[in-house]
Amino acid sequence: MVSLATGSSSSGTACGPKLSDRRGDHDSQIAAREAREQFVPALSVLTDVHSDRGATRKWVFALHDGATIETVLMTYEDRVTVCVSSQAGCAMGCTFCATGQAGFSRQLSVGEVLEQVMFAVRAAAPRRLSNVVFMGMGEPLANYRVTVSALGRLHDYRGLSARHLTVSTVGVAPAIERLAREGLPLTLAVSLQRGQRRDEKRTVPSIVAIRSRVCARPANTGLRPRRDA
Ligand code: SF4
Repeated sequence: MVSLATGSSSSGTACGPKLSDRRGDHDSQIAAREAREQFVPALSVLTDVHSDRGATRKWVFALHDGATIETVLMTYEDRVTVCVSSQAGCAMGCTFCATGQAGFSRQLSVGEVLEQVMFAVRAAAPRRLSNVVFMGMGEPLANYRVTVSALGRLHDYRGLSARHLTVSTVGVAPAIERLAREGLPLTLAVSLQRGQRRDEKRTVPSIVAIRSRVCARPANTGLRPRRDA
């Protein structure tokens, strides 16, 4: 902003602020208010629970529309990991999972995923967040565009090694093939424990089929299948 007055031409006095200072303050206040209005935090803390003598911290966040998600921060001696949600609710219907039984609410945005990570970064300080796992609420490959975009930003801008980024999936085969073509050497965790609905057998294939699809292209992708059963 250009200064309006200096020296004797200013309408300020020896004791009071100059006109330029008052206008500057006024502009700053307007800018700060606009910033608050435009950049409303995506997450509001509903609950914040510590366990394992503070090593684990679980948040339930409310989103702007009232949907809720969960995020978990886990602190180990050699790493600090955050487990993020990719959807509010989940449509996969795994029989043992409370989220699956409650049903699907909506997809998360890239900003909502990244803000979970930033929340964890601040909470983990002075330790450095080292790992991000997409293993919270939702099936990340059913929110493919957002998951890949968030992974890219974490890799490119937060400097997280792709090998410290993990996507956990029940095995959405077309999305796994698509992910393999992205060229990110991230870790893919295919959960053998997660159940599947009978009517989803065409989109949720057997682990054998998943392995053959992913392992068919290890040389040029680095995508690493991992069993977490
Ligand atoms: S995919 Fe994950 S979040 Fe969704 S129902 Fe299964 S276990 Fe629950």
